Parts: sequence; structure tokens; C-alpha cells
Amino acid sequence: MSRSIEISEVGMRDGLQIERNLVPTEKKIALIDALSKTGLKKIEITGFVHPKVIPQLADAEAVAAGIRREPGVRYGAFIPNARGAERAVAVGIDDLKAGVAVSDSFNRLNVRMTTEEGMKAVDEIAAATKGTNSRLVGGIATAFGCPYEGPVSRERMHRMMAQLLRHGAPIVYLADTTGVANPDRIRRTVEDLQKAFPEAVIGLHLHNTRGLGIANALAGIDCGIRHFEGSIGGLGGCPFAPRAVGNICTEDFVHMAHEMGIETGIDLDALIAVAQSAQDALGRPLPGMVMKSGKATDLHAMEAPRVKVD
Ligand code: ZN
Repeated sequence: MSRSIEISEVGMRDGLQIERNLVPTEKKIALIDALSKTGLKKIEITGFVHPKVIPQLADAEAVAAGIRREPGVRYGAFIPNARGAERAVAVGIDDLKAGVAVSDSFNRLNVRMTTEEGMKAVDEIAAATKGTNSRLVGGIATAFGCPYEGPVSRERMHRMMAQLLRHGAPIVYLADTTGVANPDRIRRTVEDLQKAFPEAVIGLHLHNTRGLGIANALAGIDCGIRHFEGSIGGLGGCPFAPRAVGNICTEDFVHMAHEMGIETGIDLDALIAVAQSAQDALGRPLPGMVMKSGKATDLHAMEAPRVKVD
């Protein structure tokens, strides 16, 4: 069994889109440039969404133009429609993440389209990448349940997966958008899709809404999943998810993987330093744990006993 995983950092998109305070473009660029030097191979840098819907990402073009691209790193963005795809292709985004929710209610709130309309938009996004250096990456949101509808349709999820594969999506991320999954549900859903679509490369995008993010990721690793998304410092949440909480924290996840002998190719100390810079840039404490507690292997100086024993 391969003991390595690949983590894509999505904090600059999934994380910043929900921040109350706008992060200045230069700060975003500095964080992305620092992330590019940590060994991460994929970084989602922004979303090409309507600036009125998500003003936090209104500077998408400026961010894409301002970053220093590291060779070997793929730079991605979230894309809701054909217009977003054209904008992203024009500034040389490598991976266009087309994310559609299995749940109609959620998709309507998130991108103001029904799931069927969202799937049509995926066709248009795929068309916009034809003959360019950009590629379509799949995302299936609310794959483990919806906060408005509850369980989602397996049949519809299969149709979405088939469509994304037809468009040649190299990875399809299943998103637990509002953190309703548990390790058992992860296992059942992933194994069902692996059986139906043996050719698919499945990834996981997990929110830590109920504290199960890392447990769910581990269940994914046990099912053979090798692609994960995470947010430094545990940044984020979705603006349309009630009581949203961020993704699994990238450096906490990398820390667990390294402790278990699973390779990530990431320099954990460098990543922790970037998480601390993100915390400074946002001016609020982030949920990440290892950035506060240090690594399990860090040894502490022993303090002298407080009570004198005679
Ligand atoms: Zn998310």
C-alpha cells in the first residue's frame, strides 16, 4: 500500500470567502507565495465568482497576476459558471474547480442555480478549458448530506460523477460541505463510488463542523483515498452553510500523517509558519491545534517541581 497522500491547500478560497474582514490583495499574495515554498503541489488561490455575491474574492484577477508561480505547483480556483471559466483561463489558472452540490436547495443558495443548471454549467466550464493549458477538476458538494434536505440522492451523485469523468476530470473531490459525515458514512459513500467508477480518482474535502474532520480523513485514507483538501490554520467555512466551520486544518492533518509515516512532501515547520502568518493577517485566532501546541515530537524543557519534596 502506498504510504503517501497529496494535499491541496484551499484556505485562500474556501477560507477567505467567509471572513468578515476583507484581506488586502497584497497579504493574500504574500500568503500564497509562502505556501508555494512549503512543498504543497496544489494551491487553490481564489474563486472566479460574482464580486457582489462574494466580495472577499473580488480581487481574483489581481491575485492570479500578483503571485510568484513556483515550478511544479498547480494553481487552482473555484469556478461556478462559463463566465468564471473564461476569466480563470485568461489569467492562466491551472485547475478550474467546478463544484456542484448534489442537493438542489444548497446549490441554489450557493451559486443561484439548481443542481441540473449547475451540471449544465460544468459542460460549459469543460468547454472553456478545451485547447488551453487549464483543466477541469470536479467537486461534488454536500456529498454526505445537506443541512436543508438531509440525505442526498445516490442516483444523482452517480450521474454527476459520470459527467465529470466524461469531461476528463483527473480528480473528483467529494465535499462534506457542512460537516455532517462520520467515518462510517465516508467509508460507505467512497466504497460505493469506487465500485461504480473504478477509473475515478476520488478526493475528499472535509469540514470540521462537528470535530470529525480528521477522523473522516483517516477513514478516507483507509479506503485508499490519496487526495485531500485542507485549509491552513483550519480557516474557513461556506457563507451559505449554517454555522459554518472551516476545512480540516492542513498542518494538523500533515502532522498526523507524518507521525504515522505517511508522506506528504510538505515541510511541516514551513506550513506552521504560514498558518501563523495567516492568523496575523486575519487578526483572529484560527482553530489549528499544532500551530499552538507544537508537534508531538517537540521536546519541552522540564520545569523544576513546584512543590518541594523533602
Ligand atoms: Zn468547503
